[in-house]
Amino acid sequence: MEWFCGVEAGGTKFNCIVANDPKNILEEKRIETTTPDETLPEVVEFFKQIKTKHSIQYKSLGLGSFGPIDLNLSSPNYGRITATPKLVWRNADILGFLQKALAIPAAFDTDVTAAALGEGKWGAAVGCDNFVYLTIGTGIGGGVIVDGKPVHGLLHPEIGHIFVPHDMEVDPFPGNCPSHGDCLEGLANGPAIKSRWGTPAESLPLDHPAWEIEARYLAYCLANLVLTISPKRIILGGGVMKVPGLIDLVRKKVIETLNGYIQSDEIIKHIDRYIQLPDLGDRAGVLGCVALAQMIS
Ligand code: ZN
Repeated sequence: MEWFCGVEAGGTKFNCIVANDPKNILEEKRIETTTPDETLPEVVEFFKQIKTKHSIQYKSLGLGSFGPIDLNLSSPNYGRITATPKLVWRNADILGFLQKALAIPAAFDTDVTAAALGEGKWGAAVGCDNFVYLTIGTGIGGGVIVDGKPVHGLLHPEIGHIFVPHDMEVDPFPGNCPSHGDCLEGLANGPAIKSRWGTPAESLPLDHPAWEIEARYLAYCLANLVLTISPKRIILGGGVMKVPGLIDLVRKKVIETLNGYIQSDEIIKHIDRYIQLPDLGDRAGVLGCVALAQMIS
């Protein structure tokens, strides 16, 4: 068995895994995200301990990080977190630290692109070469796969920060994005739901008006993605999407929003397949990091 290290670097925790695929997971650990000086050495220590405990070698490391991150191979800041509002992590050389300490080849991408790769290899997008993975939780972000490869472009997609129609009469909540106020993330992330209604998202029943508003914002985003990227599938992960029935509301509103313009059976007849929850569940991101590691091995 060949073993790969996966690190899903999130704003609240680092999920670390030693695995080959979803059926062959050797060890896993969650490490709290505090400061680079504390968290990164803990990550290294975990992988070193597992290597000794099982007397194994690692083939490579896949690191999927919260962002924004620098993915430009010719940039002096490649491998670093860049303009994050988490100030202690700004400019942190997250890839360089882990690669140097573990001394193995390493691949780097956004956490959401890693999750997309995981779903593409083992989950809800197997056999699909053009798709989008979105996470809707504390933040909102998306990874885009075109012809089987992650889209980077200028930097990397920042789908969470797109702008969607905001009717202030229906929803006077101003939005909570520190950069844009009422971008999609500012209106539809988990903390926005809590601030708007004074109750955490998970305690609001599906017939609460919160979900009508949430589903509408998400449907605007998905319709925009359908109209720009033309994905063959859209996978919706993250904590907010765990609310039972929310995905059905989103599917319904995507059809309403597109209003018959996109004449595809995938949307007209197979919307349940077209818009899906992740098959890998909460492990989409960290297993996606294993898939990312395998791309360079
Ligand atoms: Zn924003």
